[in-house]
Amino acid sequence: MNIIMLGAPGAGKGTQAAVLSEHFGIPTISTGNMIREALKNGTEMGLKAKSYMDEGKLVPDEVVIGIVKERLAEDDCKKGFILDGFPRTIPQAEALDKMEVDIQYVINLDVSDERIIKRMSGRRVCENCGRPYHLVNLKPKKDGVCDDCGGTLVQRKDDHPDTVLARLDVYHKETEPLAAYYKKQGKLVDVVGQDDVDETTDLILKAIEA
Ligand SMILES: [Zn+2]
Repeated sequence: MNIIMLGAPGAGKGTQAAVLSEHFGIPTISTGNMIREALKNGTEMGLKAKSYMDEGKLVPDEVVIGIVKERLAEDDCKKGFILDGFPRTIPQAEALDKMEVDIQYVINLDVSDERIIKRMSGRRVCENCGRPYHLVNLKPKKDGVCDDCGGTLVQRKDDHPDTVLARLDVYHKETEPLAAYYKKQGKLVDVVGQDDVDETTDLILKAIEA
């Protein structure tokens, strides 16, 4: 099963991707994590991507498409995958269609800007493995520590309020049109994101397993 997670930054895409990943036994391909990894390793592309992310801007298509293409060719994607953070623009969606990647569902998580800004302050991520957490909705077993690898949980720079506002602006202009794009293809599944993670998951599973 190949799935795309769609929604504004902070709508809960990453969290739901992690839950669905476990439910279906398929990997989440998060471009955010891949880019951060490239950044951590100090690759040329990682450094390029960083200059854009620091300003709340999108990483250019040719950089992102290159990473995704390589990642989807790996063995663990044969059973299926969940794309989180890609595609972000119509040209990226068109590039994905050209790769002849067969997508079954595009899950569109609908959450208002106001609620997103409120939620962002609680977001944390494992600096080691990238697993997402939330101080209210998705707590780790032990404060500040990753359940999976024991890594330290940190607040990403792109979760800070100024960056969030800049990213929401870009989202409405460049990513929101993807909902119409995939609706035309008959793949769009609209789900209203709830404050409770499990409630949102139930809504998604009901919609795609029906
Ligand atoms: Zn971890």
